[in-house]
Parts: sequence; structure tokens; C-alpha cells
Amino acid sequence: MDVDAGHGAALGRALPMPLAKRLRSLLSFQGNDDDPVTTLTRTHRAIHPSADAGVLRRSYAVAENMHRGQFRKSGDPYISHPLAVAQICAELGMDTTTLVAALLHDTVEDTSYTLETLNGDFGPEVTHLVDGVTKFDKAFYGKVAEAETIRKMIVAAGKDVRVLVIKLADRLHNMRTLGARSPASRARIATATLDVLVPLCDRLGIQALKRDLDDVVLYHLEPDSFARIEEHVKNRPGWNEYLNEVVGKARGALRRTKVYGDVQPRPRHYYSIWKDTVAGGHQVPFDLPRIVVVVDGPETDCYAALGAIHGQWRPVAGRFKDFIASPKNNLYRSLHTTVTGPEGRLVEVLIRTVSMHRCAEFGVATGYRYPKSEAESPGQDQLTWLKRVLDWQEDATDAGQFLASLRCDLAEAQITVFAKGQTFELPAASTPVDLAYELNPGKGDQTLAATINGRLAPLGSELRDGDVVEIFTESDGPIDPEESTAPRGPRKEWLGFVKSTQAQMQINRYFAEDNAPGISIQDKVRLGRATIGLTLRKHDRGLASEVPLRRLAEELGYPDLETMLVAVTERNLEPDQVVEQLIALVDHPD
Ligand code: MN
Repeated sequence: MDVDAGHGAALGRALPMPLAKRLRSLLSFQGNDDDPVTTLTRTHRAIHPSADAGVLRRSYAVAENMHRGQFRKSGDPYISHPLAVAQICAELGMDTTTLVAALLHDTVEDTSYTLETLNGDFGPEVTHLVDGVTKFDKAFYGKVAEAETIRKMIVAAGKDVRVLVIKLADRLHNMRTLGARSPASRARIATATLDVLVPLCDRLGIQALKRDLDDVVLYHLEPDSFARIEEHVKNRPGWNEYLNEVVGKARGALRRTKVYGDVQPRPRHYYSIWKDTVAGGHQVPFDLPRIVVVVDGPETDCYAALGAIHGQWRPVAGRFKDFIASPKNNLYRSLHTTVTGPEGRLVEVLIRTVSMHRCAEFGVATGYRYPKSEAESPGQDQLTWLKRVLDWQEDATDAGQFLASLRCDLAEAQITVFAKGQTFELPAASTPVDLAYELNPGKGDQTLAATINGRLAPLGSELRDGDVVEIFTESDGPIDPEESTAPRGPRKEWLGFVKSTQAQMQINRYFAEDNAPGISIQDKVRLGRATIGLTLRKHDRGLASEVPLRRLAEELGYPDLETMLVAVTERNLEPDQVVEQLIALVDHPD
């Protein structure tokens, strides 16, 4: 995958453009302003009034100079791209350093400008940011280079999240200027964007960017749907009047309840309308009117506002969601409700505080946009997630595996389970083994058995939201202490069902390190015996001798006890089933 090199300089130089076209694009670009940095500076200063515009001009001059003679596929001078990327960052409210790095983000990759020179000219911070978005190695193409590039970027983002903001802005502008590409390559690039970058943007909570990325992806992947939704949104008679009426009445309701805040229409972006339309199987684009209430006061005012809204219009049963009490996994917080508004039409209402509103829009970028006002520095928590992602970095031997794990961790659905009196977030369809590695990465290898809601369950069972899980490891089990001095490790088949990154990494590492003798027959026998011992214990039973076990093996048609124990380890035979029959055999010997 080679999104960046495609717009890249090398091609522009190699294929001489018709002179007239080149001149035209040069003229049109330079003709619209004497100083192309003016708009950028103005946007930046509107959010950060005391920002240093000098360094922006200086970095623009360097970038313009280095990219001179290079052209985009559209025919525009190359510098139009970094300038547009910097503009996107400025509108997001990023700091001056980010903007400088955005202006220079392609110089090291596409020109003779080196990281050393960059460091000398603009310092280590800018250098780190530019290096983070620079390709792993231009000499390599294809899947490996792509994965390495993403890993490199995420490692850099772990030290400074602004790397990711620049990368997302870069991709957004590239996606917006894909017009010159074939439909196939547009679809390929859009799909790649959807694969990792959009979910990353979502997880880091930068909705302001994600909305734009979503829409441009939809535009390239589903051009007909995009056109239909655009048509629908632009031609709905009475829509704005209706929303204004709703906003006015909502304001009145808040005033009467003495809750202070602001109410605004909250239009959905095209992708979100498209998703709901498809999900609901609607023939025409499906889009409910939506408003947002941003209260001035504390969190408790949100509930007061909810009361006011529900007093004004009847709520639709089952549509209230409290993301304040239970934030989404990207830490989004708000109250959501749907009410039967004027004329009996359904209206969606979002309710949040000012701080929640900012966080919902800017996520990890919030602290850059509002550096002074947010003492608690929201966005830090999403960074915790990113740091955790990087904990695997040491364990991932190859970049492809890293990427696969990242995708998995980014998967939208998550479940919450309870263990040891705490809650744990796991990917949907996780198993007790996933939980075991989450509870204690070092001891996951020793997992023997698990109970789900009090009942013994196979280790590969899918956990569900709210399950209460208990994990038993070898050290809990009835294994001879002398024998169990060294953990015997996980089973290879676990890789077939584990969902979490942590578990995959640990199991892969275990087998990769080759410190494990693998799973010998002897180990399987031992594990099978331990599993049965543990299962018996759940029934408050124990075995004084192996005689009943040997008899059961014979009755079940195994050549010997060892073969049956291997079957238990390999889950060809359920331990519960063995234990039930064993108890029957002991209690009723005939
Ligand atoms: Mn770029």
C-alpha cells in the first residue's frame, strides 16, 4: 500500500506535465494570495492568539523550497498538500509545533532534506513528529513496508500523539484529492484507511477528524449512496424550520427548569446517515432530527436537563443511553435520548457538559486546543490506551503481527466482565484465556480451567457482557508441588480462539521462544489429570486412587488412562462429562 508515494514527488518529476498545465497550476496557486501562509496563520491565531507566526512562515519557506518543481497528480504544486494538511491541523486547534511539522511532513520522505538538517533548523520536537509520519523505508513496498510504517508511526505517537494527528490530517487531504486516480485504486486506498486509521481516530476520540474521514471514505467506496444522501440532505423542505422550532422549545424547557446551557441543531454526517439507513434496511436515507444540549454547570446538570427535555416531550422507551455513567471505550460521555417531538416526529437529543462536548469533538487533541482551560487535561485517558498498545511492541516479533493485533484491539465491540471483584474490558467474543492473560500476563500460560457465572466452562467459551468469571491456574490446582516448579505453558490451540492482543502475543511468544518443550504427550497427560482433579474439586470430590479413572477409560473405549487424559487436554472429551461419569461410577459401582 502506497498512499503517500503515489501523490509523491518522484512521479511528478519523472512524468513531465504539459507545460501549459504546469504554468496554469503554478499561476492559479500563487495568484490567490501573496502570502499563502496567511489563511493558516489566521486560523491558528483565532484559536491561539499569542502564537508565533514567524516560525510558520519560516517552515513554509523551507517546505516550498524543497518541494519546488514537484507536482501532485492533480497538477497542483506539491506544496499545496502540506499546506492543506497544516490547515486541517490548525482548524483542529493544534499547537504551532504541530503546524510546523505538518508543513514539513513530506520533506524528509520526498526531498533531499534530511532529519539532521530538520533537527538543526527546527529542533528535536518537530523532527520527532516528521520522522513519525515518514515511511519506514522507501525501498520496500507492499504489505511488509506498510505494516512497518504503521508500527513506526504508532511507536512515535506513543511518545507524542501529535504524530497521529498529522498522519490523520495527511490521509484526509490525500483522500480528498484522489479524484485523479482510477476507481480501483481509490477503493483500495479508502479500504486501507478504513482498516486502521479511521478506527484509530475513533479510539483517540477525535470525532472532528473522524467525521471528515468517514465521509470521504464513503464517497470513494459507495459513490452512489454518497450522492443519494447528499441529495437527500440538501433537499428536505421544512427541515431547518422544524429544527429551529425544536431548539427554541428545548431552550424554553431548560429555562423553566433553571438549567443554563446552549442548545443547537446537531446534523449527522453522511456516513452516519448511511450506516443507519443500511442497518435499518430503509429504502430512503434515514435521518432523525437531532439536537445537542451543552450545559454550563456540572455533570449533574445533564440529568436536570434530561428531566426538562423529558418533561417537554415524551421519551421513546428503550432509547435512553447514559454514556456518562458508562463511557464508550473511546471515553465518549453524554446522555442520549429520543423523544416524540412537535408534530409527533422523533427527535434525538444529546446532553453533555462543556468539557464533555470538547472531549467528544477533539479527544486526544483537546489539550492542545484548550491548553489553559482544561486543568484536568482530558484526552490523557485515551493516551493510556495508546501506551498499552505499545506495551505489545516489545512482544511483537514482526510488524504484520503487530498490525493484526492492533486491528483486533481496535475492533469496535467490547465486553465488560467481572473477575476478582473488578471489571475488565475485553474484545467481544473473548474467552477465559483472554481474561487470564489480562488478569496476569505472566500467569496466563498456566491457565487450567475457568468458571463462568459459577459454572465450569471450556477455556474456549465465548464470554458475554456482564459475565462473572473465575480463572484457575496450575498453582491453584491439585498438582504435586514438586512437579509444578516450572509452568508448563499454554496450548497451541488457544491461538485458535483467543481474541485479545495480550493473549495472542503471550502465547505466540511462548512458542516462538522455544523455551517450551512444546506440548509433549506427557504434558498432555499431566494437564488432563490436573483438569479432572480441578473439576472434581468443584463437586467437592477427590480421588484417592486411579482405579476408577482407569475403569472409566476402559468403559469409554480408550486403550489406556493416558489416552483418555490426552483427550481431556485436547478437549475431545469434556472434563465435566468425565467427572459426572466418574462420580456415578464411584457412587454406584454396579
Ligand atoms: Mn503527505
